[in-house]
Amino acid sequence: MKKALVFGGAGFIGSHLSAELLKDDYHVIVVDNLYTGTKANIPEGVEFLERDVTALCVADFPKVDEIYNLACPASPVHYQARPIETALTSIKGVLLSLEIARRDKAKMLHASTSEIYGDPIKHPQEEYDWGNVNTIGWRSCYDEGKRVAETLVSDYVRLYDVDARTIRIFNTYGPNMLRDDGRVISNFIVQALKGEDITIYGEGTQTRSFQYVTDLVNAVFKYMAIEKSELRRFFASVRLPIPVLNIGNPEEYTIKRLAKDVLRLIPESSSRLVFKALPSDDPKKRRPDITLAKKLLDWEPVVSLESGLKETISYFKR
Ligand code: NAD
Ligand code: UDP
Repeated sequence: MKKALVFGGAGFIGSHLSAELLKDDYHVIVVDNLYTGTKANIPEGVEFLERDVTALCVADFPKVDEIYNLACPASPVHYQARPIETALTSIKGVLLSLEIARRDKAKMLHASTSEIYGDPIKHPQEEYDWGNVNTIGWRSCYDEGKRVAETLVSDYVRLYDVDARTIRIFNTYGPNMLRDDGRVISNFIVQALKGEDITIYGEGTQTRSFQYVTDLVNAVFKYMAIEKSELRRFFASVRLPIPVLNIGNPEEYTIKRLAKDVLRLIPESSSRLVFKALPSDDPKKRRPDITLAKKLLDWEPVVSLESGLKETISYFKR
């Protein structure tokens, strides 16, 4: 039986990934400090270590075949509440994952983010873009932590030939998000269900591209199934020095349109749209170019925003 370590496996994406790994007959070990994850999210059958990844070392782990590094709060509200811990989690968490991968000759997946592009200069965002990121703002703990993490992955690949691969995840949503997660889709749905004001930040003209979680998990499985030599050949052929892939849904929506769509799907809601101050450094637009993922993985998202929202609304109703 293959062993997989999932850092952050009690969180939203990590819980879906752990469930799929279990279905595939893996022995799954989740490590999570439950900052933004919950025990209820952890599927039955998983071995759970309630620990902080910044306080662990390689010797704390058995030999494993695969490592998924997802530990890090992803909602601006939660990462900004603990900015120093967030930056350290990104850096120490990825170092620990890389060291375990190096020791065990294991495959490793690092969850990076579209935030490494910052407030993008080019649109849509390609893997070749270097980003436009503030180093001293409220989002910096997350954005810069994730950028350093990508750098560490790259150097471990170059120096130690570690079998690591990075995904840059674009806004992903679905069941198992926290009610008070703070991200836009969970906020709008919970507000609409409670009849509270729907809080649009700024004028709602900023855009995001929303991916349903099952599309992301499918891409992760396809990415991890590729052997190191094939992966290296592919990325060399597209002139990228290490494996790094955008994974997201390229359909782009304004936040105002999203709010209206959520209200349309919850017709019983008495909520009104209200406009609040735009947080600092909030990216004005975001859409992934997924040309490379399509080519390498023979993958593209199949869940529309409409059906993904319906599933997520049912989850929050329950
Ligand atoms: P999440 O906040 O739901 O999950 C993160 C998990 O990591 C939580 O269970 C949390 O308790 C755990 N965690 C945080 N700090 C930890 C620490 N120091 N030690 C141990 N566990 C810790 O977020 P998510 O949406 O599931 O995101 C998972 C990963 O994917 C994150 O690395 C995030 O940066 C990345 N990502 C997510 C999105 C998205 O839209 N959901 C987009 C880009 C990147
Ligand atoms: N947003 C909003 N209302 C909310 C929460 C978020 O208008 O209640 C906006 C936010 O300003 C941003 C977009 O929705 O422009 C996506 O925010 P989220 O926190 O989900 O993710 P991120 O900004 O990290 O992409």
